[in-house]
Amino acid sequence: MDNSLSDNQTTANLPTSKAVLYWLRRDLRLEDNHALQQALASGLPVQCVFVFDSNILDTLSPTDRRLGFIWQSLREIQNTLRAAGGELWCETGPAPDIIPRLAAQLGADAVYANEDYEPYARQRDTQVAQALATMGKTFHAYKDQVIFARDELLTASGKPFTVFTPYCNAWLKRLSPQHSQALTVPPLTGRLRPPAGTPAMPSLAELGFAQTEPCLLAPGASGAKELFADFCQQRIQRYHQQRDYPGVKGVSYLSTHLRFGTLSIRQLVQFACFDGGEGAMCWLKELIWREFYQQLLWHFPDASTHSFKPQYRDLPFPNRPDWLESWQKGLSGYPLIDAAMRQLNQTGYMHNRLRMIAASFLVKDLLIDWRLGERYFAEKLLDFDLASNNGGWQWAASTGCDAQPYFRIFNPVTQSQKFDPDGRFIRRYVPELAALNDQAIHAPWQAKALPEGFELGRDYPLPIVDHAEQRQLALALFGKQ
Ligand code: FAD
Repeated sequence: MDNSLSDNQTTANLPTSKAVLYWLRRDLRLEDNHALQQALASGLPVQCVFVFDSNILDTLSPTDRRLGFIWQSLREIQNTLRAAGGELWCETGPAPDIIPRLAAQLGADAVYANEDYEPYARQRDTQVAQALATMGKTFHAYKDQVIFARDELLTASGKPFTVFTPYCNAWLKRLSPQHSQALTVPPLTGRLRPPAGTPAMPSLAELGFAQTEPCLLAPGASGAKELFADFCQQRIQRYHQQRDYPGVKGVSYLSTHLRFGTLSIRQLVQFACFDGGEGAMCWLKELIWREFYQQLLWHFPDASTHSFKPQYRDLPFPNRPDWLESWQKGLSGYPLIDAAMRQLNQTGYMHNRLRMIAASFLVKDLLIDWRLGERYFAEKLLDFDLASNNGGWQWAASTGCDAQPYFRIFNPVTQSQKFDPDGRFIRRYVPELAALNDQAIHAPWQAKALPEGFELGRDYPLPIVDHAEQRQLALALFGKQ
């Protein structure tokens, strides 16, 4: 499949009053981009547009880290567009109003965008498409953030998959080289709408957001490329052996780039298949988990607010606010849980193994509704993605489809001994425990001896709950349903 434009499709001789809009959302890159490719294929000058959507911004805290990542990624796009003779048009306000207004203002008959499967995005796009249609204009949406979307993969009886393993098998069976082939976006020079009249990009302060400390993750397509290259050269071969150890640099850390589309899923899948090794295949499976949750959200949007399993919808969680706060602050007295939560608070990232343990601890040890934990992760995670976050929480809480059975409850101490055996990760994020030996560091309250001068309860909290007791309460809570 040749995805490039033919040579005679340049925009040099086209009327400047006519254009098409390419609306960026969760696809913040200009390479291997389906909607941009199609917008350019229209032959009309393309105006790239980003809307700081007030319907979303109004729900965020002014210190939300993601705004900095988005802003810097947009800046990089703006620089590339300028170098090619164009400009990025940024507006702030409700996207469903702005896009049709802009289409009229810029004489665009069509708007091109990549699909977004979250419930708000679907509703927004329907509104935009309807408004454009009443003006005689069209809205074109393309699959871009996943290999298989919506109902492209269904069970033999035509139903959505609700169990991962058969979904994964069907996904792998259907995959052909075309699915992961990069989409060639032709050179932009001469194909962009001239920059005249483009409003300046608002600063973070003008948007009402704090200038957050520099992100640990290099933003933009350039940051994504660098990180991906590092993963491919250094870690992918050992991924299957190292992925569960948070103290080791074993995973890709690409989730934020995948969330904001600063790199293409096609590129990742193509590389994993080309490599073909045990590490790469194990990593590919994680990318398929991401698609599994995306298609679940598409088919079952209600799961974003309710337990997927109806019998767990009204569990009477005690929801103690003081325990919730201790968990959030990393002061539960369980070192690995606290290290995990402090990693989240300090960096906006948490290792996958720790997300599972910290989520399980909140629900099954502290008996707090998974939705409160889900909400906290949503506020703090730089890679927050509704489908994966909801899927991960419902998996850990045993309320989701294909979830951990309710009677399998992680023991936060044995998990710590197993996945952070030398306490390296705990020492990094809970420095007050740094002097404890490798045995004591997982459960200081059980230690025979603690370092001189260190007092449990003063220098580090005693555990706020007893795991064995809470486990029984959780079994009783879930078992009654
Ligand atoms: P890698 O191990 O390198 O995996 C590669 C990619 O595969 C990831 O970047 C991610 O896109 C995808 N992936 C990996 N594991 C999973 C998984 N279990 N489910 C879905 N996709 C996966 N992931 C998010 O992207 N956003 C979230 O908001 C999110 N919330 C989570 C909440 C909970 C309670 C749990 C248990 C998991 C959550 N995950 C979420 C999944 C997973 O923890 C992260 O994707 C992963 O830790 C990101 O690190 P990485 O990029 O180094 O992953």
